[in-house]
Amino acid sequence: METFNLFMFGLDAVIYFTIMVSFLHFRYRLGLGVFLTALGVMHFMETYLAAVFYVPLPFGIVSPGSSIFFAGKLMMILLLYMKEDAATVRMPIYGLFLGNILTVGVAAILQLHIPVEIAPGRVADLTFMREMGWLMVWGTALLYLDSLGIILLYERLGQFMKHWTALRFFLCGAVMLTFDQIGFYTALRFFLGAPIEVFWGGWIAKMFAAGLYSVLFAAYQRLATKGDGAPHSGRSLGDIFNDLTFRERYEDLLARTGKDFLTGAFDRSRLEIEGPRLVHDSARKGETASLIILDADHFKAINDRFGHMQGDATLKEIARIMRHECRSIDLLFRYGGEEFVVLCPGLAHGDACALAERLRRKIAGAVRTPDTQPVTACLGVATLGEDGQDFKGMLSVADARLYRAKKQGRNRTVGAIDRSDGSGLQTPAQA
Ligand code: GH3
Ligand code: MG
Ligand code: MG
Repeated sequence: METFNLFMFGLDAVIYFTIMVSFLHFRYRLGLGVFLTALGVMHFMETYLAAVFYVPLPFGIVSPGSSIFFAGKLMMILLLYMKEDAATVRMPIYGLFLGNILTVGVAAILQLHIPVEIAPGRVADLTFMREMGWLMVWGTALLYLDSLGIILLYERLGQFMKHWTALRFFLCGAVMLTFDQIGFYTALRFFLGAPIEVFWGGWIAKMFAAGLYSVLFAAYQRLATKGDGAPHSGRSLGDIFNDLTFRERYEDLLARTGKDFLTGAFDRSRLEIEGPRLVHDSARKGETASLIILDADHFKAINDRFGHMQGDATLKEIARIMRHECRSIDLLFRYGGEEFVVLCPGLAHGDACALAERLRRKIAGAVRTPDTQPVTACLGVATLGEDGQDFKGMLSVADARLYRAKKQGRNRTVGAIDRSDGSGLQTPAQA
């Protein structure tokens, strides 16, 4: 009997998930209202089942109402958030909350009526209605917290496991359903005197349901190759936007905008924003920061002799080396055609000159024209405080030093030439 019940339990979950996810998936064709209404109408039954409908399973006495349908609803709310955004998911969260308050209010008023029997024995169970009322209030308050909690947790976990969506989905469900089980059992115990087995049975069942929903979710992700039913949406299986929440999509977009397509470095417009911000932050914190500007030598000649395609490939190679040699916190920008700027937070002048010198050597050593001539560059270095109090000041000092490096014969780094420790001295050209 218990095994059969377990089978039925699993079947409930599969049916619920399949139908609700279909409503969600085809929301552009059906209207989101179909999904939201279906979510809402299930709530009363869930509470009713949680109050009276229990089945023995191998791991305890369990209510499908709370373990399958309530747990499922929470997962659906998370899924809606993943597919849409906070503004959309607010609708069912507030709707369920207010709708349930209304239900309880109406039930309270109904108890003041004087009902009659329409057939012998067919009379409303007012005691049960009262108890249900309180259970509804409690369940609704919990659902409200669960819904907010599951979304916040999902976002938080995204910082560690952005693309493990199904695992993230499961962990969020497991944590919030544990919280919910503690809360809901407390009410069952208080109002209906439910024994402790109900807690453990329910908890295991909720974990089981969360696991099952996550497996179904993973299967849905794999199957949903044709997008989410939106007109003209041709999302492919590998499209990560399917997995990302609205905020993650926004952050992803932000990370991509302001990037130079050819080299992958940030572009000039980002430098105008990040430069002053980084310098200002460093100055405020009393920390140092340096700026390196690089201009490839005789680059026009590379284009003229080997064509622009070769010039582009050379620029990509220069950017790749710069990214590789810089620290992960340094920011690389393409300032102009064959000019790059590196912003180095926390880097003192001597260290910045050493970094610039390393960039110069690596480029001269590794980048070649098709006729195996080395491609070289000039670099100018400036540091916050000693060379300027703001980004603009630093950039113009670094640029003047770059110009000096060009004049002195190219393939050079120029820092503060008047330093007593010699760390920023001009470096002689090296083959
Ligand atoms: P130098 O800096 O050593 O004085 O000489 P240069 O030849 O590098 O001089 P300049 O900086 O004035 O010229 C930059 C050249 O870079 C001009 C243009 O042909 C080339 N260039 C700029 N942007 C691109 C690009 O995106 N792709 C390619 N292939 N070439 C570019
Ligand atoms: Mg140049
Ligand atoms: Mg130039």
